[in-house]
Amino acid sequence: MHESFVAVLSSGSCGNSTLVSSRESALLIDAGISCRELERRLETFGAEPSRVDAVLLTHEHTDHNRGARRFCRVHGVPMYGTSGTLALTPHEGTEAVEISAREVFSIGDITVRPFPVKHLAAEPVAFSLKIDDAKVSIASDLGCLTDRVVREMSESNLLMIEANHDVHLLENGNYPDFLKKAILSNHGHLSNENAGNLCARVVCDRLDEIILLHLSRDNNRSDLARDTVNTRLVEAAAKVRVTPTEYGSHNGPFRLG
Ligand SMILES: [Zn+2]
Ligand SMILES: [Zn+2]
Repeated sequence: MHESFVAVLSSGSCGNSTLVSSRESALLIDAGISCRELERRLETFGAEPSRVDAVLLTHEHTDHNRGARRFCRVHGVPMYGTSGTLALTPHEGTEAVEISAREVFSIGDITVRPFPVKHLAAEPVAFSLKIDDAKVSIASDLGCLTDRVVREMSESNLLMIEANHDVHLLENGNYPDFLKKAILSNHGHLSNENAGNLCARVVCDRLDEIILLHLSRDNNRSDLARDTVNTRLVEAAAKVRVTPTEYGSHNGPFRLG
């Protein structure tokens, strides 16, 4: 018997992957670092790669699927994704399981609810998970906030959301104009401000902790991200612990319940 927890194996444009571990099951949301690195980081959280029941992909960008094929093939783990994501993710030699962006499914004792998000990818999704009585919502690579995203992430115990950039740092930074525009667009990445807006809209009594994902190394700082989100929470008369993840490092574990 062990407690349920979530651990971020890596976060940022260098690669994203999150381990979700329950009493009976373990799954990875994205596998954007190499297979070897996934194995190594799983071990730091006491998780055997062969114990992973599924890899769930949010979308086909390399920072989310880099190690997926090899990891799934070597360890006999099924790869779950929407048809749009699987079509653009190498998966030869693996068991690929097509999911709908609207249908709930289960991996052992974890109930998975995918929902569509706006991001410049074929068919991107985010996930809400039910583990015993706890709800965990994980959404990175969000171009913008939609009512659907707010609805799906409401009533969570643990929120994991993208806080990609500080708008001021991005606008005044070295990125070429086309890239700045793409990041700031409604199909790009979520700013600290919008991450704060999302948190303020979904905050509730159940919410224990907010984890900020996918912070840009060049256009963000963890103190800025945390302070910006905290400011929005204070305005919403809420007090919740906000933990920014460190670029490229493993973070957690974050216990559930
Ligand atoms: Zn992406
Ligand atoms: Zn990404």
